[in-house]
Amino acid sequence: MKILVVGSGLFGAVSARELALSGHEIKVIDKRDHVSGNIYTKQVEGIQVHQYGAHIFHTVNKRVWDYVQQFAEFNRYTNEVVANYKGELYNLPFNMNTFNKMWGVITPDEAQAKI
Ligand SMILES: Cc1cc2nc3c(=O)[nH]c(=O)nc-3n(C[C@H](O)[C@H](O)[C@H](O)COP(=O)(O)OP(=O)(O)OC[C@H]3O[C@@H](n4cnc5c(N)ncnc54)[C@H](O)[C@@H]3O)c2cc1C
Repeated sequence: MKILVVGSGLFGAVSARELALSGHEIKVIDKRDHVSGNIYTKQVEGIQVHQYGAHIFHTVNKRVWDYVQQFAEFNRYTNEVVANYKGELYNLPFNMNTFNKMWGVITPDEAQAKI
């Protein structure tokens, strides 16, 4: 069967690949001038820059994890975000460290009461 896949993001790309492997004739089009949709990165001075905002791959699904590993080698990465609010750094997402720094509370019950 001839199939037109509109969009070359993760969904379109995976669908196109799997359909092609099943013997279908696939054409992929995209209105952008590059493939990969929102996860697109472009090389700038040796660094992969995420054009549409930073993307981190995460899954708890072993089948998905095994699938993606055939395409690339993944680095282990821990996302650690801090917010700078009026010169003070706070952990994000919020955790007990954040609440302790903001309100001086120690226990989840104390934080709950403040919230
Ligand atoms: C700033 C940001 C950060 C994110 N961070 C993460 C993250 O860290 N981890 C994570 O798992 N997910 C993240 N996401 C979500 C992730 O980007 C999406 O879940 C994923 O890219 C969706 O893939 P998709 O193929 O469905 O859509 P898209 O990536 O949006 O791809 C759709 C493609 O279809 C094309 N298209 C649409 N309409 C047409 C048309 N009519 N004709 C031709 N082409 C068309 C578009 O140009 C696009 O290239 C983030 C999203 C954003 C915006």
